[in-house]
Amino acid sequence: MKQHPDLVKKLTVNKLTVLPLIIILIVFTRSLNAQSESVSFKVSMDNPNNHYYHVNMVYTGVSSPSINFKLPSWTPGYYFILDYAKNITGFKAADNSGNNLKWEKSAKNIWQVETNGARSIVIEYDVYAFRVSVAEPFLDDGRAFISPAGVFMYIEDKLNLPVTVTIDPYKNFSVISTGLDPVEESINTYHAPDFDILYDSPFLVGNQETLTFEVEGIKHTLAIENPGTFDREKVIEDHRKMVISAVSIIGEIPYKHYTFLIMNRGMGGLEHLNSMAVYANTSTFGQSRGYERWLSFVAHEFFHLYNVKRIRPVELGPFDYDKENYTKLLWVSEGFTVYYEYLILNRAGLMDRNIVLRELGSVIKSYESIPGHLFQSAEESSFDTWIQFFNRSENASNTTISYYDKGCALGMLLDLKIRHESGNQKSLDDVMRSLYQVYYKEKKRGFTDEEFRETCEEAAGVPLDEIFEVYASTVQDIDYQKYLDYAGLKIDLQPVETPGAWFGIYTREESGKLVITRVEWNSPAYKAGLSAQDIISEINDISASSELLNRVSSDGNPGDKVRFTVSHREKTNIVEVVSERKLEKSYSITVKTAPSQEQKIALNKWVK
Ligand SMILES: [Zn+2]
Repeated sequence: MKQHPDLVKKLTVNKLTVLPLIIILIVFTRSLNAQSESVSFKVSMDNPNNHYYHVNMVYTGVSSPSINFKLPSWTPGYYFILDYAKNITGFKAADNSGNNLKWEKSAKNIWQVETNGARSIVIEYDVYAFRVSVAEPFLDDGRAFISPAGVFMYIEDKLNLPVTVTIDPYKNFSVISTGLDPVEESINTYHAPDFDILYDSPFLVGNQETLTFEVEGIKHTLAIENPGTFDREKVIEDHRKMVISAVSIIGEIPYKHYTFLIMNRGMGGLEHLNSMAVYANTSTFGQSRGYERWLSFVAHEFFHLYNVKRIRPVELGPFDYDKENYTKLLWVSEGFTVYYEYLILNRAGLMDRNIVLRELGSVIKSYESIPGHLFQSAEESSFDTWIQFFNRSENASNTTISYYDKGCALGMLLDLKIRHESGNQKSLDDVMRSLYQVYYKEKKRGFTDEEFRETCEEAAGVPLDEIFEVYASTVQDIDYQKYLDYAGLKIDLQPVETPGAWFGIYTREESGKLVITRVEWNSPAYKAGLSAQDIISEINDISASSELLNRVSSDGNPGDKVRFTVSHREKTNIVEVVSERKLEKSYSITVKTAPSQEQKIALNKWVK
């Protein structure tokens, strides 16, 4: 708020003697309000195998007759409406003398409390927490994972209030890990300057082992659940190299400490401003191909601290926690983060050039080999993530794509184009640095679609119509070779016939039955009318099994007529499928035999 200059002048002339008193009063009242309005939580978990957190929330500084307490419907980074309110039970509200206050639900995620003049309100509720996910709370006697958007209510229109959280761990738990700052001289208590930070800071409470290292004097903590045996020093050193490589892209570390919450066994990871919550199979640490995949994955979640958390589309923050926050740019926020996994590890000396090229080729292959790439663009896939990506049907790969895959491919094309057009003086790194500097640091907001494109074109020094108007926004075929040529690379686009007979069905055995899980669009099975969920009882009148189906495929030839006896619901059909030849491209990327001097320079500057 700004004072009106004319008003100040008038006051100065006419009420000179009263002015200091008014100012003192205004300042005093404001600071009183600012100090007195606050929120604190206490979370306990006494019987963890019942899977309930008990939450006690105190809101001090109440000034209105009724208050809406709300729970988010989703959590940033996981673009799917989860309706956490479904897990809430036992809601109670009271004033600070313990008198119960009247309340009612006014929407699926709103508890409206009549304050009855109370200056502070205490609410209590239980949260059922039994989903193993990076985006949902979980509790048993081996782990408490507090996914904050699913546990902490906020006060409507007051996401800006400071918060403290006190954790009362289960008696057998000894370690609390989180990205929040601890409150000094308070046991197990943490501070968040506002609810956006709170919702961005999960807690892992249990008996995890913590390993630490420093980069530029900043502490990084690996909090690892059930770590098992692996070479601690090597794992710490590899993670340190990864961090150094990732932060050198932007050239600034924007956090005071960073925590890796690493839970054992499960799926996925979720990025935060100064932490990540991820699942890992730690038995592969330090040794194998699985570890290489782990390092890529952890580099991905880590680089998100820039790309998406700070370098972000304007739609992704400040968030509306009630509903979908649509953006067409997840192919940049997620896809480029996939692309940077390989560059970060390559620059850290943890992944050599051949592996980087192999991984990029395999990302392109997974995009190109699903029928969805004929139907959905990168922008559409980003926009519709809320209804498609986290809720995939058996038909998903027939009609949709992954913005991770296509975004990674487009990131590579854009990087090669910028490098080429700028005579290897600029790269995608310059785009990321510029977005960070201009939008995150100076304008303190996200960028629009147009601003993103402008930043890329500025780095390239030329218009980028093909990448933006064709490849990002349509399903038109991509000319990979044109871009790879800049660095003396070739991509194998030769169609190769796969041996045997191709039907286009995917199956699994379920209690002794062979069930179709997916039918590829326009495949022989699709044309013949086979469907997902069909149970195959016989193939050519012989009792069906996975083994028989594999044999019919591998020993057969294109043009074979195969009879499938299938049933769905109450109906049994005999369906003749005429197999076809299946052509596949490897999309493998290799260095040309005699690259020019210019191409050699481009390649060496790109991937070492
Ligand atoms: Zn990601």
